[in-house]
Amino acid sequence: MLASLYVAASMPSYVETKIVDEDVEPVDFNDDADIIGISFMTYNAPRAYEIADRFRAKGKTVIFGGYHPTFMPDEAIQHADAVCIGEAESNVPHMMKDYMNGRLKRFYRSPLVDLTGLPVPDRNLLRQRAYITTNTLQATRGCFNRCGFCSVARFNQYKLRTRPVGEVVEELKGLGREVLFMDDNIALDKEYARELFKAMIPLKKRWHSQCGISIAEDEELIRLAAQSGCRGLFIGFESLSRQSLESWRKLGNKRVDYLEAVKKLHGAGIGIFAGFIFGSDHEGPDVFADTLDFLLEANIEVLQATRLTPFPGTPLFEQLDSEGRIFDKDWSHYDFFHVVHQPLNMSVRELHNGTAWLQQQFYRYDRIIQRVRRASGYLHTGTVLRALLPLNLGYRHKLAAYTSLQKKLSFQPKAG
Ligand code: SF4
Repeated sequence: MLASLYVAASMPSYVETKIVDEDVEPVDFNDDADIIGISFMTYNAPRAYEIADRFRAKGKTVIFGGYHPTFMPDEAIQHADAVCIGEAESNVPHMMKDYMNGRLKRFYRSPLVDLTGLPVPDRNLLRQRAYITTNTLQATRGCFNRCGFCSVARFNQYKLRTRPVGEVVEELKGLGREVLFMDDNIALDKEYARELFKAMIPLKKRWHSQCGISIAEDEELIRLAAQSGCRGLFIGFESLSRQSLESWRKLGNKRVDYLEAVKKLHGAGIGIFAGFIFGSDHEGPDVFADTLDFLLEANIEVLQATRLTPFPGTPLFEQLDSEGRIFDKDWSHYDFFHVVHQPLNMSVRELHNGTAWLQQQFYRYDRIIQRVRRASGYLHTGTVLRALLPLNLGYRHKLAAYTSLQKKLSFQPKAG
């Protein structure tokens, strides 16, 4: 919800703003707002279009923003009065002015926002009790890498922007002890990260963020991260296969010894939430058991295993689409649970079921207990109790709910 808060913070003073998050509260279709702004990802595009159509039928003006409308503006405009392409913050004042003058344009192309002087978001606009935390912020935005499956880098025009460290520190002072950075890769610019972590040490925060595995190549940076209160990092390992990493252009990962890297982070008291993607052209059905062996040996604390998903706007989408290998363009299936493309070295069913098998194996009760025992030897007790355990149980619960839903719907992956 941080992006919506930043959009709200960029509104001119004559605009009254309200934020509704459909994940935590229902949409009120009788709301008296003049303009309905909807931001969405690919998987919830069908729902966003349905909401927009209902509001427009009541005479409301609808403006879209976010990743999916940015990459599919011609599709999105069929359900909206205007589409904001790129970050909305810089265009919001123009859009409001055009609306007031009855001259709203269909498309607004937004330049990247300068992060210096970024307004501090008003978190009171959120139903704070509905979230695990609203102590979220950003120190950096975007990424200059070009991983084929990633829409973040393209959305941010392949640029990394950083906020002045002093401004981040000031914002941190107003937040609680536990904070979550919503950065795409907090240590991508190592010099910046060094400066930020040093400045954070006196604040005595505990924090989590997304980060690239290359942080493990810099022992001083790991030490500073730990001293500044880093308790856990979400790291996109993506694959154990060098060929897969190369084909996705995830080049920074290629040179890193994953086991060594994990050992170093654990040694500093930093837990790891690992992201793995299955469905590369270079992996067959053996990949699931091989990956499980690695996860257990390394004692990765939390796993996010996803099926390769070619999001519109990414080089991966363009490649697979041109090869005629995307067989499902129902955007609601672009949720990492469904397989939407034809893999090369395994069937669709093997990819779907293999990923599910890996998740079930990883989140078995006996393995969670074993994981907690081992992690208690190197993580802070608070991290084990407040992060590792709830995340493991939460994932287990979510997987069980999804499996039972599949059974109820007699869901079968489309054979391939
Ligand atoms: S996956 Fe990570 S490293 Fe690769 S482009 Fe996206 S944000 Fe950057």
